Amino acid sequence: MRRSFKFLMRPTAKQAVALTACLDDHRALYNGALEHRRTAYSQAGVTIRYGDQSVELKEIRAADPGGQGRWSFSSQQATLRRLDKAFAAFFRRFKAGDKPGYPRFKGRGWFDTVEWPRDGDGCQWDSQPHHPSTTYVRLQGVGHVRVHQHRLIWGRVKTISIKREGARWYVVLSCDDVPAQPLPQTGAVVGLDMGVASLVTTSDGDHLANPRHLETSAERLSAAQQDLARKKRGSERRRKAVVRVAAIHAKVRRQRLDGAHKAALGLARGYDVIVHEALRIANMTKAPIPKPDCAGGHLPNGAAAKSGLSKSILDAGWGVFLRILAHKAESAGRQLIAVNPRNTSRTCARCGHCAKENRPSQARFRCTTCGHQAHADVNAAVNILRAGLALRQGVQVV
Ligand SMILES: [Zn+2]
Repeated sequence: MRRSFKFLMRPTAKQAVALTACLDDHRALYNGALEHRRTAYSQAGVTIRYGDQSVELKEIRAADPGGQGRWSFSSQQATLRRLDKAFAAFFRRFKAGDKPGYPRFKGRGWFDTVEWPRDGDGCQWDSQPHHPSTTYVRLQGVGHVRVHQHRLIWGRVKTISIKREGARWYVVLSCDDVPAQPLPQTGAVVGLDMGVASLVTTSDGDHLANPRHLETSAERLSAAQQDLARKKRGSERRRKAVVRVAAIHAKVRRQRLDGAHKAALGLARGYDVIVHEALRIANMTKAPIPKPDCAGGHLPNGAAAKSGLSKSILDAGWGVFLRILAHKAESAGRQLIAVNPRNTSRTCARCGHCAKENRPSQARFRCTTCGHQAHADVNAAVNILRAGLALRQGVQVV
């Protein structure tokens, strides 16, 4: 199993300056490599590949010993590979008939991570804690940076990354061969309905990871963003406002992750089989296509209502939750099943009658045939569980 561990770094002031320079130089390398690919293609029809750029990297380093030459060759290669991946994704989507965006230049604040692809190569994770919860990571060009290691890591450290979130710095260790820690069987099964009011509602009637506590942060965020919009470009006040916005964003992310972790852990502990709906978040949050009318204006297309929903969906962080749940379920030896959510919210969990009238409001379910009443999300979660168990039996028969 592969797993990531993320820890807060406590760099000295000097190290923080070096970390910032490290990000800036890797960003410059990324942008330079992107520019090179663009001009080579547009002016000479030549396609530049990762291999070509990796060879050139040697010359770039030799020509700039105090700048690009300071950093790890491998982390720079990883940055070039990252650009290569962006291009590969672009061409793949283009071939599939989509209209993908061309890989972009990364502005300040849009390039916040550098990866060292192998522990011991330009970076070194110190596996011997000097003091409980204090460890060090050695990064080429930065030094020995103190790390607040708040938990044990498992497995073998494979890659090491640094990540900037607002004013904080983190180190992310991606570990291989992390042993699974199977939990004892409980004999219980559960279905999950993913919603907006509660992130998750279970077939047992529990509401988990209510994302509403993010609302306070959301209000502070919008105030900070308005404040930022009033500042003059290039001013010191604007720079500070940017830092404030980034810090609130980071807090929202932390809160959401925290809620998702707790909910996922509780589910993995309590149930042998967990059934959830297969989500297509990319589709659900896409902006609606405007419908032009004959007069040259636009007919209402539900954009306003949908943009509110998009925000809620993103706020609820279902994708993040499902990813965490998948990790925890795998580690605990639990079975996770995804089912098609079609009709699960309008079908009666007791008699199977399917009608949109069964759901008089967002929260209520009342079957028009048998009179079964329930919280609408709980009713849906029961249907999801049933669909998952049917699928599981079908799989076992084959
Ligand atoms: Zn019914």
